[in-house]
Amino acid sequence: MSLEYHADVPREFGKNLCACISCHLVKTLDQFVDGGCENCGFLGMEGDKDRCLECTTVSFQGMISVMDPASSWCAKWLHLAKMVPGCYALSVQVEVPPDIKEIMGENGRRVHEAG
Ligand SMILES: [Zn+2]
Repeated sequence: MSLEYHADVPREFGKNLCACISCHLVKTLDQFVDGGCENCGFLGMEGDKDRCLECTTVSFQGMISVMDPASSWCAKWLHLAKMVPGCYALSVQVEVPPDIKEIMGENGRRVHEAG
């Protein structure tokens, strides 16, 4: 394991890509199952494919790679300043399930809903 802390970069760019509905981190579904979401350990996605499917979405548009979230204006604009470096979706169209929304709230995450 690398000492440098950053999110997995998507291994492939295709239909397997999905975005975390809480922080919008983009990885393949397999990567979410393997390591969970680096920003959202509280969602308990690691090793749980059903949970991953529940907490991620393929309905996202655009993607940016954020290497230095603390100093990137783009990251600030996307509310990513406190997130780990990685690839993030620009916009996510998803209705966050109520139980997930509750967990996000308990962990200080704001829900940015579409619409
Ligand atoms: Zn996340």
